[in-house]
Amino acid sequence: MTNAPLEDYQIVDGHVHFRGLEWTEPLLDLMEAVPLACINLVSTPNPDTINQNADQIYLKTRYPGRFYASGGLDYVQVAGQGAMDDPARRSALLGAQVRKLEAIGFDGLKLIDGKPTARQRYGLPFDSPAYEGMWAALEELQFPCVCHVADPETFWDRDRIPDWALKNGWFYGEGAYPSKEGLYSEIDRVLERHPSLQIIFAHFYFLSADLERAARFLDAHPTVCFDITPGAEMYNNLTRQYDAARAFFTTYQDRIVYGTDTSTRGIAQDGVEHPLAKARYVRAFLEGEEPFTPSPLIPHWLEDDLEAIRPLALPEEMLVKIYHANFECLYGARPAPLDEEAARAELARMADVIDAGEGERPENPAREVLERLG
Ligand SMILES: [Zn+2]
Repeated sequence: MTNAPLEDYQIVDGHVHFRGLEWTEPLLDLMEAVPLACINLVSTPNPDTINQNADQIYLKTRYPGRFYASGGLDYVQVAGQGAMDDPARRSALLGAQVRKLEAIGFDGLKLIDGKPTARQRYGLPFDSPAYEGMWAALEELQFPCVCHVADPETFWDRDRIPDWALKNGWFYGEGAYPSKEGLYSEIDRVLERHPSLQIIFAHFYFLSADLERAARFLDAHPTVCFDITPGAEMYNNLTRQYDAARAFFTTYQDRIVYGTDTSTRGIAQDGVEHPLAKARYVRAFLEGEEPFTPSPLIPHWLEDDLEAIRPLALPEEMLVKIYHANFECLYGARPAPLDEEAARAELARMADVIDAGEGERPENPAREVLERLG
């Protein structure tokens, strides 16, 4: 069977970081170039601007139907109310934040607190009482969540960590970082308590080197999915165990979600060509017939021991699921409408909190969005 031409698929990118309204046009250009029907924006906490929820509200308001928003938590509120070290209060606050996001018209939640560097800044273990209210709210509302847990195993190994990861400060072999297995154990305990959580684990849950374990995990937890956002180590690992990878994608074709982890930081550095190269690489892996090498813009997406990435050449009915149907099972067939009044009230609250923060406040995205929306 021959696949439909690339542009014929309806594609939702399930994992895109957007921060800074000046990148709106480049993002729309990217959507046209890939092409993408919709994007799921994922928001992460930030001590200066709280998170990227304001930017998400802007895009959802201006371009209805094009953007899903997975909002971020507000740790500034948690700290401001002195609840950082008070598990019961923190649990109540985070649970209330989830309910508020849902009421405003966000489509889901983004959790980055399973990435070791983020864990150091904000986090407690996912299975700690401080997160209990959040998990309970997510489960009760069936509110989906894109969750980052762990990182590639080489990031804990001084001899194997890639240079670019070292430069990003992602070496976890020393210091107070959690272990990869420790992070997985936290999630196991959370899913034991909350077995119907709707979670997309980002980056294949960093289990691409161990497909048997990945299969056991998906079998044990029927309501969760993996996204295939790089970590490009994933595509190298899958190439190394090609037959098993193809079998995995066939067996779990209902549990895999397309995504690229595109960020406006990347667009700011290298322009739209950079995320476009990433999207083309992921699509070539899923759709292509011939082994390929990455664009010169992303040379490290081919590891030294391999000559090329070998694509899966998946049939059309599987591609349709990975490109949008699986995502839509969790997030709905179209983005939720915003309650504009509730969204404005939240923007105003955030704007005041950002203004009241310590030190210089060169940017206040919540205020900017409020002004732009008029
Ligand atoms: Zn990401």
